[in-house]
Amino acid sequence: MNINNFQNLDLEEYFKTDLKVKDLYRIRFRDNFSCRICDKSVKDNLNLTVTFKCPINLEGKTYDSNLWTLCNECVYIHKNFFGKNLNPKIIEKVFSEKTGSKRLKVLFYNLPNKNISSNILESIAGIKNWKKAIRKLKNKDNLDILWISQNNIFEKGYYIFKTKEN
Ligand SMILES: [Zn+2]
Repeated sequence: MNINNFQNLDLEEYFKTDLKVKDLYRIRFRDNFSCRICDKSVKDNLNLTVTFKCPINLEGKTYDSNLWTLCNECVYIHKNFFGKNLNPKIIEKVFSEKTGSKRLKVLFYNLPNKNISSNILESIAGIKNWKKAIRKLKNKDNLDILWISQNNIFEKGYYIFKTKEN
């Protein structure tokens, strides 16, 4: 795929899965039929969607670790973050890195003083110990990264890379 065309393409296309019913069921079952971001479930009368953590065409991952169950509201927020904040150049830089911690580092450098939700960071890192990776960036690379616990918008908290320029 040509990453330079990112802006011209419908964001929907990037998150569209081509899964069969039994695969969709497998992921929803794994996720306890609840949204992985806000924890609401079908019991809360929500529509749940199986979608990509990282847009498929960027990561080229089709396997389960890149799929998660989200409610429609969280799908919208997640997609919007990619659409608004990650222009093609940043995406290219972030995903040219081979490890999760390097992807996080590049992401923080390119989005200074911006609230980035835990979910976004987890999905971009694509590694289980993404929090540990962030702690390393703080302690070893001396990045001034703050963690803010949940508020109304970010139910699982968010991180912000503080720079002095602003
Ligand atoms: Zn949700």
